[in-house]
Parts: sequence; structure tokens; C-alpha cells
Amino acid sequence: MSALYELTLAEVSLALAQRRVSASEVLDAQVARLGAVEPRVQAFLRIDEAGARAAATASDARRSAGQSLGPLDGVPVALKDNLLTRGVETTAGSRILSGYVPPNDATVTTRLKQAGAVILGKTNLDEFAMGSSTESCPFHLTQNPYALDRVPGGSSGGSAAAVAAREVFGALGSDTGGSIRQPAALTNVVGLKPTWGRVSRSGVIAYASSLDQVGPFGRTVTDVALQLKVIAGHDPADSTSSDAPVPDYAAGLTGSVKGLRIGLPREYEVAGMDPHVLASVKAAAKTLQGLGATLVELSLPHTGAALAAYYLIASSEASSNLGRYDGVRFGHRAEGVKTLRELYVKSRSEGFGEEVKRRIMLGTFALSAGYHDAYSVKAQQVRTLIRRDFEQAFGVCDVVLSATSPVPAWKQGEKLDDPLALYLMDVLTIPCNLAGLPGVSVPMAPTSAGLPTGLQVLGRPFDEQTVLNVAHAWERETSYFRRAPEL
Ligand code: GLN
Repeated sequence: MSALYELTLAEVSLALAQRRVSASEVLDAQVARLGAVEPRVQAFLRIDEAGARAAATASDARRSAGQSLGPLDGVPVALKDNLLTRGVETTAGSRILSGYVPPNDATVTTRLKQAGAVILGKTNLDEFAMGSSTESCPFHLTQNPYALDRVPGGSSGGSAAAVAAREVFGALGSDTGGSIRQPAALTNVVGLKPTWGRVSRSGVIAYASSLDQVGPFGRTVTDVALQLKVIAGHDPADSTSSDAPVPDYAAGLTGSVKGLRIGLPREYEVAGMDPHVLASVKAAAKTLQGLGATLVELSLPHTGAALAAYYLIASSEASSNLGRYDGVRFGHRAEGVKTLRELYVKSRSEGFGEEVKRRIMLGTFALSAGYHDAYSVKAQQVRTLIRRDFEQAFGVCDVVLSATSPVPAWKQGEKLDDPLALYLMDVLTIPCNLAGLPGVSVPMAPTSAGLPTGLQVLGRPFDEQTVLNVAHAWERETSYFRRAPEL
């Protein structure tokens, strides 16, 4: 029999339901796994073993009383550290929030708890989720479980690595411009960015509010579907959350793509793309065609302007969202200052890292009088064009298929001196956020060096089901998800 940590979320859930194992035993197995691999992977910023232990004990008591809360009851999971956890320090990977212990849970945290999930800890991220490699964090780096000298992607690199390393069975991240899908692709796991509005943002530390969305990581599409069902749905605390009904995504996985039209945008064959990744996407399209789908070549003509528009919009929203960190209300407060202005300046100078400062300056500049029309308004216009590109595409296809990341995981430190090179890594994930669409990354063929790659499927707003279905059919046909890192 395989070790407990090797099971998928759905498998461990079944073992719990059949009383073959208790939640406390599952937690023991994961704590042992953490002891064995976490020193090398460093996916977590904080492990809450006491909290997890209490949740596992409560879960076992419920089971004994015949009162299970569903498929996540007793299952160890992790949360990206930009999701509030009551009583457990939450920093968003920033010194400015060091020591901040939230008085309340994010809605997604509450929903996981209500479903009986055992929250094992908070995972590493790029500071305030700004980045693509989990390197812009002042605490420590996270290693890619498939190649320890390489990045796990980002910004939800800790959540992706924790699932890939079999430390937890599922995890939540946030995706503003690719931060769930890209690290999923680089670590051979499944990552879903839901439609903007599908999941509540209440208690999610804001980066760029019109783009931020929380979503799940899992080893399989089913594992992601099970978590999405729990976190999705209307929340009175977030007026932008949708009240569209939440389907049973896992039950809706048919495994069939017969008759589905799969769009292949020619603009998603970008310069500098890894040849293996490009060839693998083409092969994937053929595989899906073999399963009964129809391939449709199409154009998303404004793709080339997406990156510039995104970095203006995201930075502008960030510059305003991060205004609240002033040394007065939360987190770091500078010492030895004489005036209020000095308090603001010194607290922020000490508390924020390089990349965050770069974004605040960029955003403040783009929003300032005189530049507003030239930059911010233009960026919003581009955003509308990108949304229209997709609306037209979805007139002739049901999903759009591409690579998730143009390249596999790179070496730690390799792109640190060149922020623009890092921004360019987001070219295939960002348009989806600008248009507010759902998108998933699912494991694709590894490179000859064994580095994971990801296949991205984008869908119509609120059509997570079709996106997951295509990924599910692909995963069943290819089984790349079965690969495990040698740790
Ligand atoms: N890499 C992108 C950025 O730095 C996306 C980050 C994200 O999705 N949170 O903005």
C-alpha cells in the first residue's frame, strides 16, 4: 500500500469516509512528511500544528458521531499567506505585516473550516503576490520540488510546492495575473483561477482588486473541483461576488470532450517560447482532437498589448491598495521619528521590499494628473479590447488552449536583476485576468531534463465546469499528474 501522503485529496477523503484512517492519523502522516521534506522545499512561512491538531481531533469526533461535513472533512490543506487566518499571523510575505495577527478569517478560510478542512499552515509567496518566482519575499525562498535549485513559480509558489511535495492534499492561492496557474505549471500540479467574482475576496489581502481571485491547487482536476465547490459562491461581505449557483464541479466531470470546439490562438505562440513547450501544446491539441474535440484556429488580436496594460492597471490598483500600510494601523512602525510624515515615509521605506516599491511608484505615476489619460485610461481601453477578443473567440470555440508558462522553471536568482524579463513570463496568463475569465493549468509533458510544464485551458465567464472537464479528459488520457518529485 502507498504511504498516506501519496494519496490524492479524493483518495484520502474516501479513506476517511470509509473509516480506514482517522483525521489524526492523516495529520500525523503529513507532519512526518513535512519533517522529511520541508527543510529542503521551504513551502511554508508558518506551520500551525496545534491548530491543525485541534481541527483533526474535532473532525474525528464528528465522524464518530456520524456527522461528516463532506469531502474536505479531516483533510490537511494549506493557505497562501495573503489569506487572513484568525489568530494566526498573516504577512502577505511582507515585513510591513510582520507580527500581524488578524482578528478574523477570510471568507475562503471560514468556508474551508466549515467544510472540516485541517489548515496546516500558511505558504510562501512573492511580497503582496507581486512576482512570478516566490523570490521577492524577505523571509526565505521556496524551492521547486522537481529541481531544488529552481524557482517554484509564483506568486503562489509556496502553495504549489506544498501540494507538489505531497505536504498537503490541497491548497489555496491567489491569481491576479497568473499566480495560481503559472506555479502549478512549474511544479506539475493542477491550479485553477476561477472567474472574477466566483470566489469571495473578503479577507484576501488586496493586490489589484479588479483582477485578484482566489483558487485551489490540487494534484488532480477532481481535487481542484472539490475545493472550488467549497470556496465558491456569493458572500454578503464581498459585493462583487456573484450569486450565480455553484454546481457540483466534481460530479460534473464527464471525462468527455466530444463535440467541444477548442480554440488555438495564434498570438499565444510567443517569441522566446521553449520549443518543447510549444511542441507539447500542439501535441495536446491533437490528443484532444483524437478524443472527439474540434480544433479551431483563431486570433486574439490585442494580446500583444496585454502585458503593458496589466502592469499599469495592477500597479495602479496596488499603489492605492497599499496606501493603508502607513505605520499607524497595521504592521511595521518605524521608530525614532519626529513627525507624522516621517513616520509614514520611514515605516514604508523599511517595511516594503524593492519590487513592491517599484510597483507603487509605477502605479502612482500612472495615476497622477497629467499622465492619467495617457496611461491609466489607455490601459483600461486595452482591457476592453482584450475582453472583446475573447467574446468573439467564444463565439466560435468553447475553450481556448495554450501553454501556461512559455518556459519551464528557471534557476533561482537567474532573472532577479531583470524585472522586465520576469514580467514577460506572464504573457500567456495575464489576458485571462484582464477579461475576468476562468482558467486552469494541468500537467503537460516534462522536458528532457524532467522539468514540469503546464497546459492552460481558458473558458467563458462562470464556465469553470467546461474548463475543468477539458483538463480532466486530458489528465485521464495522459496521466502526467502521476509523476512525483524525488525528494
Ligand atoms: N506575476 C504577476 C505580477 O507580478 C502576477 C502576480 C499574481 O498573479 N499575483 O503581477
